[in-house]
Amino acid sequence: MTTELLLETSTLHDRHGRWPQAETVEDFRNNLTVVHARMAAACQRVGRDPAGVRLLPVSKTKSEASLRLAYAAGCRSLGENKPQEACRKWEAMQDLTDLRWSVIGHLQTNKAKLVARFASEFQALDSLRVAEALERRLQAEGRGLDVFVQVNTSGESGKYGLPPNEVAEFLRQMPVFSALRVRGLMTLAVLSAEADRVRECFALLRGVRDRLRQESPKGILLDELSMGMSGDYEIAIEEGATVVRVGQAIFGARATPDTHYWPSAGEGGAN
Ligand SMILES: *Cc1c(COP(=O)(O)O)cnc(C)c1O
Repeated sequence: MTTELLLETSTLHDRHGRWPQAETVEDFRNNLTVVHARMAAACQRVGRDPAGVRLLPVSKTKSEASLRLAYAAGCRSLGENKPQEACRKWEAMQDLTDLRWSVIGHLQTNKAKLVARFASEFQALDSLRVAEALERRLQAEGRGLDVFVQVNTSGESGKYGLPPNEVAEFLRQMPVFSALRVRGLMTLAVLSAEADRVRECFALLRGVRDRLRQESPKGILLDELSMGMSGDYEIAIEEGATVVRVGQAIFGARATPDTHYWPSAGEGGAN
């Protein structure tokens, strides 16, 4: 890798569809090495300790065989967007007992039961109805769940997540859900090749977090900021991300367009 590669800060959304498929353990190891190096370089640019940023590999649409290669290369947590796909993979891979599953996509209340069964973490909480459904199912399972509250920082209507000005009130409702451990906030930036517009989304999430941290109810921790994906994780780290959700840069490009996962994932995001 050249120094220029490590130093450049721009979005890589124009690369969508051009990440080569990882087909061997070696491919995964190489991709992970590159991503970790870029994460460390981003930390260094802003004087952060790399230990303060967690990489969550995102395996949606990828086959069980591919997930097993990622595991062999060292991945011990995987992010999946859709609860059914995640649950199916979890069931098939129960032999990997130290693998943790994170659901990072929108949840309907009728799927809360699935998530309560197997997930360690849910990153897309944005409604009380879903919180209630998860709480009920988790109590039945005798489990707890780390959750992130999803915030819509791009202002695009129809996108999932709470508007920034509704987050405080939402957090005030959280302490009654004793099975939900609020860890922080999550966002998807606008999918744009313009780094400044992407950066604004991340800075907004951080601002919301910093403001609400002072007044958040007891037991509600806002330590974590989950933001950044293959095209923009370095910018997210510069803006304070503690978790980056990276799929294509580790697994290779997806065939399925992102519009399948996010409403109005339009500009620059089509594969
Ligand atoms: C798919 C997905 C990601 C990862 O996107 P890549 O472009 O594969 O890095 C991150 N966050 C969410 C919510 C996703 O659905």
